[in-house]
Order: sequence, then C-alpha cells, then structure tokens
Amino acid sequence: MDELTQAFRQFAQEKRADLIGIAPIERFEGVPTKNHPCSIFPETKSVIVIGKRITRGTLRGLEEGTQFDIYGQYGLSWLADRMLAMTTISLATWIEDNQWEAVPVQDLPPQVPPSGVAVKPDAPAPNVMVDVRDAAIRAGLGEVGYSGEVLTPQFGPRQRFQIILTDAVLEPTALCETSVCTQCKQCAASCPLDAISADESETVAVCGKEMTVGKINYDTCRSCQNGAGRNPNHPAGLPDRLGALCNRTCVHSLEKADAVENTFAGEFRKRPAWQKDATGKASLQGAV
Ligand code: SF4
Ligand code: SF4
Repeated sequence: MDELTQAFRQFAQEKRADLIGIAPIERFEGVPTKNHPCSIFPETKSVIVIGKRITRGTLRGLEEGTQFDIYGQYGLSWLADRMLAMTTISLATWIEDNQWEAVPVQDLPPQVPPSGVAVKPDAPAPNVMVDVRDAAIRAGLGEVGYSGEVLTPQFGPRQRFQIILTDAVLEPTALCETSVCTQCKQCAASCPLDAISADESETVAVCGKEMTVGKINYDTCRSCQNGAGRNPNHPAGLPDRLGALCNRTCVHSLEKADAVENTFAGEFRKRPAWQKDATGKASLQGAV
C-alpha cells in the first residue's frame, strides 16, 4: 500500500471510523451527472466512503418495543449529524493537511429532485445528490441485500455512511467479493405489511457486481409503525428502515447464520418480536 493511503487509513482508525472504502473515480462511469461526484468536484480522483456502526445495543429499545428515542439519536440523527460527521470532517482535515482538497458529503438522498437552475450549460441543476449507499458498493464496503439495504461483512445492515471527494489518488479498495446476504428472505417474511415481496425480485448491478433485491413497496414502508421513520434528510428520500422489524430480523438472521464479523456473546433476538399491522394494532410474531 502506498505511503499516503497507509497513513490515511491509520489516522481513520485512530478516529474510530468503523469502515473505510476507497473507489477510484473511474468506478462512477455511467452515473448520471445529477448524481456524479465530479459534478460537485470535477477534479475528484478518489471517493472515500466512511462507515460508522449502529451499535447493536442502540437497537435494543426498538427490539423490545419500549424505547424509540435511543435509536432516533444514537442510531440516526446524532450518529449521522454528530458522531459520523465529526469523523468525516476529521479525515477531510487530515487530507487537506496533506495538501489535497477534501469535500465532505453527507448522506444525500438521490430521490430528491433538483431544487435550482443550472448555472452553466454543461452543469446539472443544483443540488447534485451523490448516492452514498451506491458509493459504498463502488468503494468495496458491501452489497445491497434482498431487503434493499446495504449489508457489510462486518455489521450487516448496522451502519451509516458519509463520503469524502478528493483529488488525492489513494489506493482503491477491491469490490466486496463476499456475499453477505444469505437470501434467507426473513426480512420479507417478518414484514407485517408485506412491503417486501418474497417472490418478485430484481437484479441490481453496480460495477459489474450483481445483487438480488426483493421488490419493495416503499410507500408502504413510509407508513410503517414497526421502527421505520421518514428520511432524516429530506421527505422525498427513501424512508429510514435500519431500525425497522425487517432489518432487526436481518441482524438476527445474519448472526444466526454466522455471516457477520461483529459477533456477541448472546443472541440479538431473545424473545418473539412485536409487530404492528396497518391499523397500528400490536401483536407478537411466534418464532424467535
Ligand atoms: S434478512 Fe436474509 S434475505 Fe433479507 S437482507 Fe438479511 S440476509 Fe438478506
Ligand atoms: S420498513 Fe416496515 S413496512 Fe417496510 S419492509 Fe420494513 S417492516 Fe416492512
């Protein structure tokens, strides 16, 4: 590994970045200009994706159905806007101390339409929204699971991402060859609103890596009362589902299958999971 990349990774580790993936800009070939990193910083040579884990205990109040605010802060708003953002800006500062420009980028929902007018003939209308989850795949951090969420070999669906665009040439991370998703379809089976089809799926390809993703009704997820919530960054973005029953079931399922590296002495799901139907009526799911 070259000296700059090695020193950067060492610093990132000291700053408690849980995941670092580096994609050369060539891996974004074919991405529309309205989502392309170079539309923000034309000199981009490397896209660094930084991941910070949602600790398993942060999901505990949701899993027991007794405390929802802990996840809302340590798993969502504080994790993204404070803890992860502090890591991102620390790493960007380090890069600029080493004489390369570094653009920190938060999780921008690519579903958000342009909100301004193009200022030059060859520029897309603002705001350009780089898809951070897509970038995580291009940077070798993981894959899209059947649930539609990014799964990493380290934490399954338990992380959030931000990125740094830089003109520094850093050593790329290889695409994730490991298949994290076991295709168990427990995410679909556990959904009380049948928002993920167990029968219909599509193949999503990123940089030649093909992944099978269930057909998902995100409008149903928007009204889900099982731990999902609106997109924290924009109402037009996909709903936040990382704490929802589908993804908590995925956490449990991946651990049971010994498919993630971050392991624990005890099982995540200790009791039957609660669920609410479309009317808000609560009941328990039988199998643990
Ligand atoms: S629950 Fe199973 S099928 Fe669904 S995303 Fe997780 S590992 Fe994949
Ligand atoms: S967010 Fe809710 S409705 Fe959507 S798949 Fe998950 S459990 Fe089902």
